[in-house]
Amino acid sequence: MSREQKAVERARKAFFTGRSKSLEYRISQLKNLQRFMQERQKEIAEALKKDLKRSEFGTSLYETLGVESEINLALKKLKEWAAPRPVNKSLMTISDQVYIQPEPLGVVLIIGAWNYPWAVTVGPLVGAIAAGNAAVIKPSEVSAHTSKVMEEFLPLYLDKELYPVVTGGVKETQELLKQRFDHIFYTGNGMVGKIIMEAAAKHLTPTTLELGGKSPCYIDKDCDLTIACRRIAWGKYSNCGQTCIAPDYILCDPSIQDRVIEEIKKNIKEFYTENPQKCPDYGRIINQRHFKRLMSLMEGSSIAVSGEHNEAECYIAPTVLRDVKPDAKVMQEEIFGPLLPIVTVNSVDEAIKFINQRDKPLALYIFSSDKKLIDRMIAETSSGGLMANDCLMHFSVSSLPFGGVGDSGMGRYHGKHGFDNLSHMRGVLLKQLKMEAVNKMRYPPHTADKLGWARFFIVRHVDFGSLGRMAMLALMVVFAAVIIQKYFTD
Ligand code: NAD
Repeated sequence: MSREQKAVERARKAFFTGRSKSLEYRISQLKNLQRFMQERQKEIAEALKKDLKRSEFGTSLYETLGVESEINLALKKLKEWAAPRPVNKSLMTISDQVYIQPEPLGVVLIIGAWNYPWAVTVGPLVGAIAAGNAAVIKPSEVSAHTSKVMEEFLPLYLDKELYPVVTGGVKETQELLKQRFDHIFYTGNGMVGKIIMEAAAKHLTPTTLELGGKSPCYIDKDCDLTIACRRIAWGKYSNCGQTCIAPDYILCDPSIQDRVIEEIKKNIKEFYTENPQKCPDYGRIINQRHFKRLMSLMEGSSIAVSGEHNEAECYIAPTVLRDVKPDAKVMQEEIFGPLLPIVTVNSVDEAIKFINQRDKPLALYIFSSDKKLIDRMIAETSSGGLMANDCLMHFSVSSLPFGGVGDSGMGRYHGKHGFDNLSHMRGVLLKQLKMEAVNKMRYPPHTADKLGWARFFIVRHVDFGSLGRMAMLALMVVFAAVIIQKYFTD
């Protein structure tokens, strides 16, 4: 039996003991996870420094604070999320109990990516634990130092059987994918996303795919370009552009292109100094393969800002490309690096058409002071998430679902959305062995009269919004029941 198979079997066996279902146990495990995030800050930061040359402040600000906030929220809200959720009643169910009972799915496989390895691996784990599941955690081999920290330290805090960490690359992940899971939560690129879905289909396993894509950023002429470009420069060059929701490219009117370039250039200098290579707040490309990929993406486009690089260090400076043609190399795939192409469009109609002709993006950014224009963008495009006048920040709002649509993925998480996504929403109807007369309309022999009553009860969707109305309707139902009883028992 392979190591992967053993880990899954152990997790399933542990799940069947039922301990992950108790709310007390879920809370204790979440508290352990919280303690892990606090006590192992040093190891986490050091590993990310080695993997991405990310600064300690950057790691806290862009990643671990968010994970801690997710754990805190789950601890605070778990009882509420896990409680039965009463739903609207109909005339047929007025005297019954009708509710949704969230229940654990079973064993969840979490496959993480390397760019924000804690957010995309431990983030979904928070939802999995909160929802009462077991989870097999497969961190990305690409962020090797971080993966080692997860493997070494997580089992010191969490139930090793319920939440095993399985490290490895493609071979190990594919071995895992042969096993049966109750949900697969994958973060990474779309090509592998298809492999995941194919493997999941063999067991009819539901999947969440947190993918990427090219997230457009439209800048309207009617906007404060100084502020807009500062926020865009921050959103683009954080983590060296290796952010799934980074603005991938800018769409703007040709008349503002020069100002946009100047403003972004000014902010690059302000954030990362004259020499970003020496700046502790500016990271590196994850590896040589991605470095080479990014260098080749620049081919055929004019560089407006920087373009400096150093292969030995996997360094590419914050770069802006101007007058980029839609068929340029850099516009054919997700950039996932510090290159910011500007494509000019002559109107908002052209921008909308440009966006809609391509895959549905994970994020869509609009910078404008015109509320009507923003509303139009919302109404006439589609994307995983949308933000006006800022970048990335929607990721930090736990009450918003985070996930893609179409080519940018399926499923969602963060806060209650993560809990719900990894729960089965069981519909429960509890009746009593009374009021049998009401049921006569559904028992043979079927007659036109009975069908008439059935129509009355089934087709009408009565809104039981307020208690007062509910009481009145209850009276009506009792009245109807009395009539039926009389009618059918005659
Ligand atoms: P990656 O190379 O770390 O791969 C992700 C995971 O898939 C890893 O655990 C890896 O072991 C596994 N994997 C890779 N190839 C596989 C194969 N052939 N079969 C089975 N498993 C395999 O990460 P990546 O794909 O380079 O990540 C970058 C992509 O992820 C970008 O497209 C980015 O936009 C996206 N992303 C999305 C989100 C989100 O929340 N939507 C977050 C981060 C990254």
